[in-house]
Amino acid sequence: MRFAIIGGGIAGLAAAFELEKARAAGAQIEYTIFEARERMGGSLASQIVNGVVIERGPDSFLTEKPAAAELCRELGLGAELLPSNDASRKTYILIRNRLVALPDGLMFLVPTKLIPTALTRLFSFSTKVRMALELLHPPRPSGLPDEAVAALVERHFGAEAVDRLADPLLSGIYGGDAASLSARTVLPRLVEMESQYGSLTRGMLAAHRQMRDRARVAAKNNGHAKSGTGGPPAPRPIFTALRGGMQQLIDALTARLEPASLRLSTPVSAIAKTTNGWDVMFTGGAESYDALIISSPAWAAGVLIAPVDAALGEELAAIPYSSSITINLVYDEAQLGPLPDGFGFLVPGSEGRAMLACTLVHRKFLGRTPPGKAVFRAFLGGVRNEALLTETDEALVAIVRRELSEILGEKTISLGAEPEYTQVSRWRRAMAQYAVGHQERAARIAARVASLPGLRLAGNAYDGIGIPDCIRLGRQAAKELLTSGS
Ligand SMILES: Cc1cc2nc3c(=O)[nH]c(=O)nc-3n(C[C@H](O)[C@H](O)[C@H](O)COP(=O)(O)OP(=O)(O)OC[C@H]3O[C@@H](n4cnc5c(N)ncnc54)[C@H](O)[C@@H]3O)c2cc1C
Repeated sequence: MRFAIIGGGIAGLAAAFELEKARAAGAQIEYTIFEARERMGGSLASQIVNGVVIERGPDSFLTEKPAAAELCRELGLGAELLPSNDASRKTYILIRNRLVALPDGLMFLVPTKLIPTALTRLFSFSTKVRMALELLHPPRPSGLPDEAVAALVERHFGAEAVDRLADPLLSGIYGGDAASLSARTVLPRLVEMESQYGSLTRGMLAAHRQMRDRARVAAKNNGHAKSGTGGPPAPRPIFTALRGGMQQLIDALTARLEPASLRLSTPVSAIAKTTNGWDVMFTGGAESYDALIISSPAWAAGVLIAPVDAALGEELAAIPYSSSITINLVYDEAQLGPLPDGFGFLVPGSEGRAMLACTLVHRKFLGRTPPGKAVFRAFLGGVRNEALLTETDEALVAIVRRELSEILGEKTISLGAEPEYTQVSRWRRAMAQYAVGHQERAARIAARVASLPGLRLAGNAYDGIGIPDCIRLGRQAAKELLTSGS
């Protein structure tokens, strides 16, 4: 059986890995990955420059979702997994050009601790009163139509919480904005809590209690209580990275695959459904396959699939995408004044800055930056500022240096302080946006795909934007095709 995979990002490579495992176990299969660019990996790309790990795309994945760490272990990268330095985890929000730390007890946008919420400078007095009254919020019936994250957050905590919390957090994750992202897709737990408890704060506290009780029971069952030595297991780090950068995952995956199966610089220009399978067309050739996984972005998948199934093509094309820019600046610490504690800061749109967020890379993951160096990783672009993509590298670096100096202060990072190394990476239409109604759209897409034998879709457009979800969907697509026999 012959499989084609279109798109060699992490989803496509994970699918190929699953096929390679089946082949190595004796299944009579062949596979080919068609990748438009000259390298595999899609958004995952990093390099080591003078001992500093520079991430051009994602720098880590959420530990809570197991698929990425599992794959790393299967690839022999277990010892390379690096937890985030949560002991110094602190994130700031820029409010009127001052960095204000997120208050303790904030869980998924929901304040759960009274005193830190009462004392924070993040919210005005009237928002704090509103947050206290939120405890009395009545339940919302389930089954109502989807709505924007902004509508959900504003109903509970007011417009300021959207501007200062929901929007910057979501633009940091999706490059998107709270006014268009789907509450049901992006914050499903909060939607459930609202229908069960009314108040999100009460819902979050109840969930926290249940988690604590479950952890206690698990610890007891594991014998910690009996042995009296271990106590409950250490909390998981929020993020996990790879010591040598996310490129390690791409290199380990491609090293496992059949070299002849990897077709770089080969964009697929068209596909056609045949009686028994699929034809794949590319510059200089066409090949026939029994099964096809399209793991390109949905907008590219839509173009390919439209001649086969116009309605499916339209649904795929309708999934919006945002573009972003990452800018890494490496400094000699001797050139800088003391930096704020923590992982970095987020910038609300109302601050009128180009930067959406900035990570202090040397703080977030220890051991990936040599001592004496500081690495800033700024995010720009997103749905509100796509025009920045056309700026030159020099102009973008100048913008980030000026904004860092204005935000952190001349004494901390003066305009005269020259970075030792800079790197600008543009990610055009790389991040799918789960707009209001996304789940219904995803269900319609799944139904149409099910009517086309031998076809599966994978990638960040469908059921999770992060690396673990893309891996899960890629592997699942391959497994389903292997078991269905087509
Ligand atoms: C700047 C940035 C930071 C991020 N940070 C994080 C993070 O910290 N943690 C996290 O979990 N996630 C993060 N993400 C999200 C995550 O990286 C992506 O969602 C994920 O990598 C997408 O993988 P994918 O395989 O679906 O798509 P992609 O990586 O986009 O791969 C799709 C591939 O398809 C190829 N392609 C397109 N058309 C064709 C064609 N016609 N023929 C052949 N090939 C084609 C493309 O060239 C591309 O290589 C980040 C994303 C970006 C852009």
